Amino acid sequence: MAAVFFTPMAFHGFDGHDSKSGPYQMVPVKEARLVGIRTPHQDCFVRSLHDQIVSVACQERISLWGDEHYQFPLVGHSVGRTQVVVESRRGHALAHLTVSVKERRVRTYSILLLQDRQHSTVRSIPDAQRMMGAVGKLYLQQANVQLAPKFAPRTLTVSDDLGIPLDVTKERRDRILHFLPTDELLLIANNVRVIFSWRLAGRQLGVTNEPTALVFLADGSSVYVLAHEVGHALGLSHNDVPDSLMSAEETENPTSPQLFWHEIDKVNPSGT
Ligand SMILES: [Zn+2]
Repeated sequence: MAAVFFTPMAFHGFDGHDSKSGPYQMVPVKEARLVGIRTPHQDCFVRSLHDQIVSVACQERISLWGDEHYQFPLVGHSVGRTQVVVESRRGHALAHLTVSVKERRVRTYSILLLQDRQHSTVRSIPDAQRMMGAVGKLYLQQANVQLAPKFAPRTLTVSDDLGIPLDVTKERRDRILHFLPTDELLLIANNVRVIFSWRLAGRQLGVTNEPTALVFLADGSSVYVLAHEVGHALGLSHNDVPDSLMSAEETENPTSPQLFWHEIDKVNPSGT
């Protein structure tokens, strides 16, 4: 049985596979993505069912980790969705790959470092920017969603003792909204505000205040937790696939924080 894999480029282990739709690959419009298939067949041919949406460039047989693969670039031409078929020399279909060609979608965000009378985050502004940069790469690579900074990062000082803003009820997190600078409040709905907060013993923790797209991230939490919370802020719900980005289960260090096809299509509906 042939299996499609996606050659890791900037993002190791990315594979849009989903049990409902089979393998899935996003390709940005006017760009190319390298895709590979592992197959025992010596001669394979790869073609797109809709050449005006995506075309397959020249194919190459390679050996990877002791396995034989075909590797081929998919070139996105126009927004849409198509199937790419891998066929044997006799014309039998060996594998299908769903390809969605997507326009770039821009979502803005801003970074706030929270401090109150008693507490402040240990994050520095460059540290927070680095983390958001890594999250931005993930969404750009997997969904062609660009996360663009709306304001320069700043410190948000609250003249109160907030205690533990991540653990308490939505009401207390909502109160923090009242302290946001007025230009922050002018941000339209669904753009993402990330608040780096303090914490707390042990656990990695992030919280999203829906539907305000307000993300709280505790000290000690990883880029993965931030990417998960940003996923909520972009409208994603939990799935039940362990180790995936939007898994409901707490995973400390997943090897491949991936989005699935329906999540990619939700954060970027072009090409669906
Ligand atoms: Zn969650």
